Amino acid sequence: MARYTGSVCRLCRREGTKLFLKGERCYSAKCAITKRPTPPGQHGQARARKMSEYGMQLREKQKIRRTYGMLETQFRRTFEKANRQKGVTGDNMLALLERRLDNVVYRLGLASSRAQARQFVRHGHISVDGKKVNIPSYTVDVGQTIAVRENSRDVEHFKALREGSTHVLPKWLSFDAENLTGSVLALPQREDVEMTFEEHLVVEYYSK
Ligand code: SF4
Repeated sequence: MARYTGSVCRLCRREGTKLFLKGERCYSAKCAITKRPTPPGQHGQARARKMSEYGMQLREKQKIRRTYGMLETQFRRTFEKANRQKGVTGDNMLALLERRLDNVVYRLGLASSRAQARQFVRHGHISVDGKKVNIPSYTVDVGQTIAVRENSRDVEHFKALREGSTHVLPKWLSFDAENLTGSVLALPQREDVEMTFEEHLVVEYYSK
């Protein structure tokens, strides 16, 4: 499957905000957006001009899509699914994005970034209700149990997590560090999304 292979810090600089794509580094002084908060490219600094309505909608869509590490087609499919559901489309879309298995692995603190979480899922380290699931876009449901598989528990990264972590859990998830197991307690609500998004701009973008 095609995927973005360029510098992820470049994506943050393009969106003008931290998208937290690199784990620990994002919280350090090495963060590229802290050091150079201008858009990438030779003319990055010269681009500071007033954005059109369409430009703002496009940028917000890109920001959300890139935060969750998705390609355009996949992101659009998620939007269309959200649009078919009852309720507010923007809220539905964010809830679907939050319920992706790679995001849940990240939000449980099992990975330091969504990219790392995606890799853990793809490499078969994660199970849902006791069965291996290696599809990062898998949508988790209330009551399901997400765990590090038995054979993967001795991987250094996971062993360190069992010794304790300072990760702050969202209220819709619970986590048992000793057993490296998490549960989905409820569906995520709008206020559970940790990033500042203006999802109504995405709805406007796709409604044209
Ligand atoms: Fe973005 Fe993290 Fe790179 Fe900073 S270190 S620019 S937050 S990916």
